[in-house]
Amino acid sequence: MSKPLVLVTGGSGLVGQAIKHIIETTTDYSQYQFAFASTKTVDFRSMHETRMLFERVRPTYVIHLAARVGGLFKNLNEKLRMYEDNMDINHNVVRCCYEYCVEHSIHCLSTCVFPDKIEYPIQEEDLHNGPPHESNEGYAYAKRMLELHTRLYNTNARTIGAGAMTGAMTCVIPTNVYGPYDNFNLEDSHVIPGLIHRAYLAKRDGTDFVVKGSGTPLRQFIHSEDLARLILWNLFDYPRRGETMILAPNPEDEVSIKTVAEMIATALDIPECRVKFQTEFSDGQYKKTASNNRLRTMLLNYPDFKFKNIENGISSTIEWFINNYDKARK
Ligand code: NAP
Ligand code: GDP
Repeated sequence: MSKPLVLVTGGSGLVGQAIKHIIETTTDYSQYQFAFASTKTVDFRSMHETRMLFERVRPTYVIHLAARVGGLFKNLNEKLRMYEDNMDINHNVVRCCYEYCVEHSIHCLSTCVFPDKIEYPIQEEDLHNGPPHESNEGYAYAKRMLELHTRLYNTNARTIGAGAMTGAMTCVIPTNVYGPYDNFNLEDSHVIPGLIHRAYLAKRDGTDFVVKGSGTPLRQFIHSEDLARLILWNLFDYPRRGETMILAPNPEDEVSIKTVAEMIATALDIPECRVKFQTEFSDGQYKKTASNNRLRTMLLNYPDFKFKNIENGISSTIEWFINNYDKARK
């Protein structure tokens, strides 16, 4: 008998590649086969192409990561594309999870889609309790609709009864992710890969290391391999399928952008006097501190799990970027 297949949409990206790394370096998931999809194989904005892929691979499980993704400045500059592409991608993938009776699927939101004005730490239930920060409203509303869409299918399944849908759809809400295979583009990327690339060039060319904004905003960061482990655990071992979960390290591990820039500068041996903040650039939302209470409670079932230390995670990401400079996305 063939092994149940897990389709990973967004398989070539930061998180998709981390999932690939985890399944290739442990035997924990050897009873499954995995298919990794990217724009090379399918355009999920097309319902026809999405259906063709599901028809071909017939997944038992889906990890849905594919998205138009970017940092603060991409979100600011491309609001309409972030909204339209993500609405289309998510609609088609969710619809096919239903049509092809996928047993359990995981769908990725982001802590940056929570309301801007909210009590901290943010909880899972806060998702729709106010408008998102205006800088990323296109991306944020598309991701919020993904939560609604999956929730409606889950409710529908319960009201129709057994047999109407074989499985649940679970949303996970990761905080800012970083690691190998990230997008290191200087304009479009998230802050850690953008700063690593800029620091690398500053070191190489003997110029200033420029950080956008004031450096005061706070962020929680999760290494892509930690997130990959948690997503796989959520898919196979989380007993409350369909319940949304924030995937974030502890709120007290939040760091400022300035601290991140200093960690990168130290790792690359760039003196403090060469780190320059360009305050004419946006700071974005000041903070998005998210609670990980639900995760911590459920992690009691996963006692071996420990978050990577951010300093070590940044150093190993820098090492990966330097060793893969020619092929890294930038
Ligand atoms: P990423 O590195 O930018 O990768 C995006 C993936 O989606 C790539 O595999 C890309 O394929 C694929 N893709 C994009 N448009 C597609 C389309 N129209 N059809 C088919 N595939 C398409 O993103 P990531 O950082 O791994 O993010 C994974 C998930 O986590 C996303 O849902 C994102 O919203 C969420 N998330 C990310 C962060 C973060 O900080 N990165 C934080 C919170 C949540 P190609 O490589 O072929 O372009
Ligand atoms: P966010 O968490 O969704 O806001 O996304 P980012 O990962 O883009 O982080 C944005 C924060 O980092 C803002 O406070 C920016 O001002 C700051 N920042 C500093 N330099 C950069 C950079 O080169 N790229 C990005 N994206 N943000 C930067």
